[in-house]
Amino acid sequence: MPASPVKAVGNSLVLLARCFRFLDSDYFPEGAQKVMRGAKEVEIDRCIPFVFLHAACLGVLWTGTSAVAVGTAVALYWLRMFAITAFYHRYFSHRTYKTSRFMQFAFAVMGATAVQRGPLWWAAHHRCHHREADKEGDIHSPVTRSFVWSHIGWITSSSNMPTNYAVIPDLARYPELVLVNRFDWLPPVLLGVSLFAAGSWLQATMPELNTSGWQMVVWGFFISTVVLFHGTACINSLAHKFGSRRFNTDDDSKNNWLLAIFTLGEGWHNNHHKFPGATSQGIFWWELDVTYLILKAMSKVGLVWNLHHTPPSAFISESTDSKPVTVSQ
Ligand SMILES: [Zn+2]
Ligand SMILES: [Zn+2]
Repeated sequence: MPASPVKAVGNSLVLLARCFRFLDSDYFPEGAQKVMRGAKEVEIDRCIPFVFLHAACLGVLWTGTSAVAVGTAVALYWLRMFAITAFYHRYFSHRTYKTSRFMQFAFAVMGATAVQRGPLWWAAHHRCHHREADKEGDIHSPVTRSFVWSHIGWITSSSNMPTNYAVIPDLARYPELVLVNRFDWLPPVLLGVSLFAAGSWLQATMPELNTSGWQMVVWGFFISTVVLFHGTACINSLAHKFGSRRFNTDDDSKNNWLLAIFTLGEGWHNNHHKFPGATSQGIFWWELDVTYLILKAMSKVGLVWNLHHTPPSAFISESTDSKPVTVSQ
């Protein structure tokens, strides 16, 4: 029996609303609070962007490889990993240093090119992670839920889609940050278009480089972004499972030197859960924290300031004082 015209129009409107959510992250006609209380399982239609991102990497079979394309992919991996760790994590989520309003906006846009949604969404979820790490309220714990859930499953649940503005009032007061957060798809699209344009130009002007617009998009955007996603997600999953614990924190966070290399310092996760307000996550000199070294260099030229240092007590023994000491730069 054919569906009634009223029902068909209703279904179309529901479909349109779901499409709008991909365009405007804050578009929740039923209310964001209601969605946040909703389903907490993997949702198939929310998996589509991830399946697409991974499948698009196979485009390399058609576009081929060149040194310039692979080099671009590697450079964009490190650059955007830095944007995630230095800006999304250590600035927006934990406010471990200060910067100007313009730089704050630039940090938001650079972070958004990593295709890990907007800065306010990222910071809000991360603050909730620290509040209830590895407890029932932790939305991506490999301890209370499965490993796959902590790595990627939680992002596909519609209950985790809205930005919880209640926990980020310090960031939500900047309309330009809210704008980047709402239209978080725009910076990645601009990056993809720029890569296509650069590749096409190189193909026309320097054919000996053997690159093309689509080759640059496949390597520089899709492959780089997929590896970057898994590198970042490892901190939610692996860094709460494998490694050593210097501090007896109220969670299962671990220090893992291998993860620290791939994530520019984020692998010192047990240190970080102990001192979340410190800019540096490595405590001893052998705990390489490249993000911190770059932020320190940025502070020398005045781009950022008031980096929060790890309390001196951390160098001596297990400490209960998690309040970082602020040292003027
Ligand atoms: Zn953690
Ligand atoms: Zn954190």
